[in-house]
Amino acid sequence: MVTNCPVCGKRSVGKVGTIQYYCWECCVEFVVRNDEIKVFDVELDGSLTLYNNFQEQSM
Ligand SMILES: [Zn+2]
Repeated sequence: MVTNCPVCGKRSVGKVGTIQYYCWECCVEFVVRNDEIKVFDVELDGSLTLYNNFQEQSM
C-alpha cells in the first residue's frame, strides 16, 4: 500500500482509484501497478500528462 508521494515523499496522498493516488502537495496523480509507479501531472482542464521530472527508482 502506498502512503507516501513518490515525488515529494510526504504523506498527503489520497486514493482516487483502484491503483490511482493523488498528492495534494504536488497536485500530481500517480498510478501504482506492481513495482511500477507512473506519475502524471493534472492539467487545469483535468487531463493527465506524464510527469517528466520524476525518474523512476529501480529497487
Ligand atoms: Zn507529492
